[in-house]
Amino acid sequence: MNRTIKKIESTSDLKKIMAAYYSSLAECDSSKKIAWCSSVGPAELLRAMGFEVFFPENHGAMIGASKKAADYISHANAAGYSPDICSYLTSDIGAFIKKETPMKKAAGLDKVPEPDVLVYCTNQCRDVQDWFSWYARHFDVPIAGVESFRGLGELTRDHVNAVSAQIKNLIPTLEKITHTRFDIDRLRKVVELSQRCSSLWKQVLETAASVPAPLTFFDAAIHMGPAVVLRGTSTACDYYELLLKELKQRVSDGTGAVEQEKYRLYWEGMPIWGAHRDLATLLSSHGAGVVASTYCNSWIFDSLDPQDPFDSMARAYAGLFIARTDSWKENYIAQQVEQFNINGIVFHEAKTCPNNSNSMYAMPKRIKTPSVVINGDLNDLRLFSLEQTQIRLEAFLERLD
Ligand code: SF4
Repeated sequence: MNRTIKKIESTSDLKKIMAAYYSSLAECDSSKKIAWCSSVGPAELLRAMGFEVFFPENHGAMIGASKKAADYISHANAAGYSPDICSYLTSDIGAFIKKETPMKKAAGLDKVPEPDVLVYCTNQCRDVQDWFSWYARHFDVPIAGVESFRGLGELTRDHVNAVSAQIKNLIPTLEKITHTRFDIDRLRKVVELSQRCSSLWKQVLETAASVPAPLTFFDAAIHMGPAVVLRGTSTACDYYELLLKELKQRVSDGTGAVEQEKYRLYWEGMPIWGAHRDLATLLSSHGAGVVASTYCNSWIFDSLDPQDPFDSMARAYAGLFIARTDSWKENYIAQQVEQFNINGIVFHEAKTCPNNSNSMYAMPKRIKTPSVVINGDLNDLRLFSLEQTQIRLEAFLERLD
């Protein structure tokens, strides 16, 4: 059956906001310092200290969506980085070596903004540290980081103290670069905006608990842009107010993102950026809506609290899904299945991101919900076959019938 995907009207505003963000980075004069930050690194602190913040993982995702990653990865391989490690890292460094960027098409930028400092958090993986270290050597600028925990069950006071202390320890390095004093009230304000952005983003995602769901994972992975690169600003909050209004209207009108929604799926793992649209079309043509995902939920930070900025940032960064034990993750997924009325789970086993691939140690066998594993990658399309994935997904939907 030929079903259509309903377009989200707020998308035109999203495009303008993202283009303005990239342009603002390009237009920075020497009075403005630029920090590169990992996706769940201390962005709130960087903004509070007056930095413009650039997120290389967002740039990596743009490369993936452009389907040009394979052209770039070989350049990073020639520089000594294995084809088996994070393809955000290899495609991003490769694009830099090749002097190309997808920001050219998105906002007319010829190159990525040059960093004054690179700041990472190892909550997600070690790759971000290696990735940022390459640029720190290239630009000869400082690199600083927060070493967080992996395989966490309970998040204890000791974990929070350890991460919180490291965030505070970044301040002297950052002050030397900006030549300004740290101001706790400014940080509280940024954390408050970040908390608001997170709360609105959560409400946006929770609209998909309605049947039919007004948005899918394939929409949300695009609309999460402001939550990733503009958290801690009023621009991101204003955007999610707008998007939320549109989605609530869809809910009250009974309008689904997928026409005649029949299956409700959960996406576990990274997106396959170069096949994002193909997979959205394929699944919607069968009436399958992917109505929730771990990936999009990863930018919900319930613990942020402007009254307790350092410890609450530490709880948010250290408590990420990706940093938890399998049993913690299984409980989380079970709760999502319940909340979003899920029929089946799609596990994406991404070849170059074992950190965010949860099917490798038998999780699909342990969870009660029916599931399918698809093999692919976030950026490297040589590791993905649309035909094989289609066969596997269609067989899975038949099984759900
Ligand atoms: S979590 Fe995965 S995709 Fe993200 S930076 Fe680390 S290895 Fe790359």
